[in-house]
Amino acid sequence: MIADFDAIAIGTEIQRRIGVKTSRDEPLGRFTSMRVGGPADLFAVAHNAFELRALVRFARARGLPHLIVGRGSDLVIADAGVRGLVIQVRAEGSRIEGSRYTAEAGVQMARAATETQGGGLTGLEFGLAIPGTVGGAVWANAGAHGADVAGILESARLLGTDGGEIVVSGAELGFGYRDSRLKHASPGGPGELVIEATFALSPADPAVIKGRLDEIRRWRQAHQPIGLPSAGSVFRNPPGDSAGRLIEAAGLKGLRMGGAVVSEKHANFIVNDQKGTAADVRRLAEHVRAEVARVHGVELEFEIEFVGDWTEWKAGAA
Ligand SMILES: Cc1cc2nc3c(=O)[nH]c(=O)nc-3n(C[C@H](O)[C@H](O)[C@H](O)COP(=O)(O)OP(=O)(O)OC[C@H]3O[C@@H](n4cnc5c(N)ncnc54)[C@H](O)[C@@H]3O)c2cc1C
Repeated sequence: MIADFDAIAIGTEIQRRIGVKTSRDEPLGRFTSMRVGGPADLFAVAHNAFELRALVRFARARGLPHLIVGRGSDLVIADAGVRGLVIQVRAEGSRIEGSRYTAEAGVQMARAATETQGGGLTGLEFGLAIPGTVGGAVWANAGAHGADVAGILESARLLGTDGGEIVVSGAELGFGYRDSRLKHASPGGPGELVIEATFALSPADPAVIKGRLDEIRRWRQAHQPIGLPSAGSVFRNPPGDSAGRLIEAAGLKGLRMGGAVVSEKHANFIVNDQKGTAADVRRLAEHVRAEVARVHGVELEFEIEFVGDWTEWKAGAA
């Protein structure tokens, strides 16, 4: 726990002022798809946009380090955990108005895909492949099967760094390949946060959209290690190539370190199939990166984020 951080007093104040219960030393692994990571000093769930705004403003006003998590499907949390306050976003309201779909940041992308299918709207089918939230998907410009958030996002309501709210268009979010301006936050805490997002979709026959969802489901079952703990693609694809191809060609499929292994099904996935640690995952990922550089002369960049307190890991196992 960080010095001069009184988790008990802060937790009590959060409960009194915002009405949100907090827990101390909450193990975070179960809130991530990789299923690794130590405790948060203090942990709170924001069940709606009001709680999310209030928690973030509270943390900012006190200079309290804070981390926002959605479904933790793009994160590897350090074994030493996360200092300060971790806020899980579970604001899950959504509505369809004409051909627009608006969802709060905590709505899961898979739910957005099936909900819009039911409403006879096409465009969000790729969401079925993304096991994260709308907030995380906007942050990452998540995409799959030839589509991405940038292609359908009409606007997003953001909590700005000054505590005020702004509505920005998709064009203003600086989208690129798995990139948005939200990824370039200031140190010490998140910058702008997604409160809700509105997607511009098109009317289509629900049965046809359902067929597309079934196809996506089948493709994922066949090509990804679904059902095993992972954080999706570990590395970004370098220009004109695929990280998975480079890793496979370097002979790294099946390479294991502790409980983590390079997936036999998809070389750009590391799966934690034997109750490994965050250090196992990171050591393996760093080794893969070094080997790809040695064999192919290509420096892969991480797609996944390593968050929390990695200081001991660096000292002990570089
Ligand atoms: C099996 C598997 C398959 C995957 N396939 C794909 C794929 O096909 N395509 C793809 O693009 N990704 C894929 N991913 C990666 C991941 O699902 C996406 O990046 C997703 O968008 C992350 O959302 P999340 O809610 O889990 O974010 P988290 O992992 O919880 O957080 C990731 C980052 O987003 C930030 N964040 C979360 N919520 C907000 C918010 N409301 N406002 C601002 N920042 C926020 C967090 O602070 C953190 O920095 C896959 C992951 C897995 C495990």
